[in-house]
Amino acid sequence: MPKPILLSVDDDSDVLRAIERDLRSQYGADYRVIGSDSPEGALDLLKQLKVRNDSVALLLADQRMPRMDGVEFLQQAMEIFPTAKRALLTAYADTNAAISAINHASINYFFLKPWDPPTELLYPQLDDLLDDWQASFRPPFQGIRLLGTRWSPRSYELRDFLARNHVPYQWIDVEASANDPETRRLMDALGPEAANLPVVLFPDGTRLLEGIPADVAQKVGLRTRAQTSFYDLAIVGGGPAGLAAAVYGASEGLHTVMIEREAPGGQAGMSSRIENYLGFPTGLSGADLARRAVVQAQRFGVEILSQEAVAARAEGPYRIIKLADGNEISCHALMIATGVQWRRLAVPGIDRLQGAGIYYGGGATEALSCKGEIVYVVGGANSAGQAAMNFARYAERVVILVRRESLSSTMSQYLIDQIKETPNIQLWTHAAVAEVHGETHLEEISVLCTDTNKIERVPGSAMFIFIGALPRTDWLAGLVERDERGFLLTGPDVIRDGQHPKGWALDRDPFLLETNVPGIFAVGDVRHGSIKRVASGVGEGSVAVQFIHQYLSKV
Ligand SMILES: Cc1cc2nc3c(=O)[nH]c(=O)nc-3n(C[C@H](O)[C@H](O)[C@H](O)COP(=O)(O)OP(=O)(O)OC[C@H]3O[C@@H](n4cnc5c(N)ncnc54)[C@H](O)[C@@H]3O)c2cc1C
Repeated sequence: MPKPILLSVDDDSDVLRAIERDLRSQYGADYRVIGSDSPEGALDLLKQLKVRNDSVALLLADQRMPRMDGVEFLQQAMEIFPTAKRALLTAYADTNAAISAINHASINYFFLKPWDPPTELLYPQLDDLLDDWQASFRPPFQGIRLLGTRWSPRSYELRDFLARNHVPYQWIDVEASANDPETRRLMDALGPEAANLPVVLFPDGTRLLEGIPADVAQKVGLRTRAQTSFYDLAIVGGGPAGLAAAVYGASEGLHTVMIEREAPGGQAGMSSRIENYLGFPTGLSGADLARRAVVQAQRFGVEILSQEAVAARAEGPYRIIKLADGNEISCHALMIATGVQWRRLAVPGIDRLQGAGIYYGGGATEALSCKGEIVYVVGGANSAGQAAMNFARYAERVVILVRRESLSSTMSQYLIDQIKETPNIQLWTHAAVAEVHGETHLEEISVLCTDTNKIERVPGSAMFIFIGALPRTDWLAGLVERDERGFLLTGPDVIRDGQHPKGWALDRDPFLLETNVPGIFAVGDVRHGSIKRVASGVGEGSVAVQFIHQYLSKV
């Protein structure tokens, strides 16, 4: 934690140097001593310190300064750091003004110049003031702070990005905490910049206005540039399948890079509790699984890039991936583990309110914000059931909207049982979302009751959609063969009528998880015919590494 600050202000540079010297020699071990030769400059400095979340223990100002006297400075400084102790440095002639300031202007003490010897005329009184300050001092939060509003899609995107990448941060909803004096002080200190929300404040004092995840990734040290331009194995996608391939590949000596555009963990990272993964009898959260896998991958030397793959091509024995920032990475073997992304719900109003009450997927960051509210979960699969169970811990009521007459054909029985036993979860069957309403955020939902063909309009501020998922593989079109829905074909699926795929120049068949391009493999949910489960993704990612070794032995 940075040391708290003692700030002295005096327009006479000799006096300023002397007081700084005396403060530093006595208190330098526990405090940072800063001086300013103008009250205006000192006020600007205090605003910067407020934005950095620094603590100021003492403000010591000369009474006689041009343009602004010491009392006025201390009063303005108090608006920024109300708990700092305040003291004046005065000449004998100003004693009366100083006494009056103590009585009327909340000044704690005054010192006469010169203060020689400081052991008698300065330190004993300052010791008292600082002891007093220490008694009520609460160290401020030292990490990243994110200022925004709950209904801002960009704030949501950043919160989700930080949470899923396990970057600790403090969220400050400037609307919800508008009456909190400390939030007001911070917004005042930011000045006009506070209009550019969301604002990300970093502990080193830098800030990002209207930041986007890619900027934040770079700033928090997530690697966005590859260390070298060539790897044995490049994996696109950091879900369970990609992570497993990374761990197995690197542990068996392959120089491996894993490219992930959002956060390692993939869909599994959004799961509040995975209960069917071998070895975890009481379940574990997807975030926990992802965190463990990332540590394991890094231990084996996997390089993890926070980037999006936007194109790929094959040049002789090399497979080349183009990244969103324009850079390219080459490799011998390329593994596609990009999973699936949520299908969009196509009803009026939905796109406009996405991130402002409408969310696709778990929205783990939103669960706490839904405290005491009514939350709608759309979908009848396990992902919807898990999310409903998670929200039920915070929300007053969770309503699951499903088109069918029950959950029995789409959800695992253990989840159906849990939902039945949770009193604040309500199942609304024969229900389809017809429209969503709201100006700046979701306010109401029109639900079509398919059994009566009537529309019911209900109030709601949060709706989480889990209506199935599709792969996004357009960036591989023309290179890798896909089925009509975009899933990648592998192994026997690329052999038609006993014929090898077009352009296949090898005298062997494609390996089980290999696509129509030798050396390009596909694993996990993105693969045509895969079982959409964490364990199967992990299994495929691990098994594929064996085929990669065989492929590499003949490149
Ligand atoms: C809420 C929820 C709960 C679930 N619960 C369970 C459960 O309890 N048990 C179970 O077995 N399964 C569960 N599943 C299913 C399971 O999570 C998936 O089957 C599994 O995550 C698939 O893994 P994957 O690695 O193939 O793909 P994904 O997990 O989808 O990961 C793909 C990754 O690739 C990244 N990516 C995509 N395109 C690019 C690109 N162009 N460049 C860079 N990166 C890219 C994505 O950001 C993503 O992180 C759940 C799924 C969800 C959504």
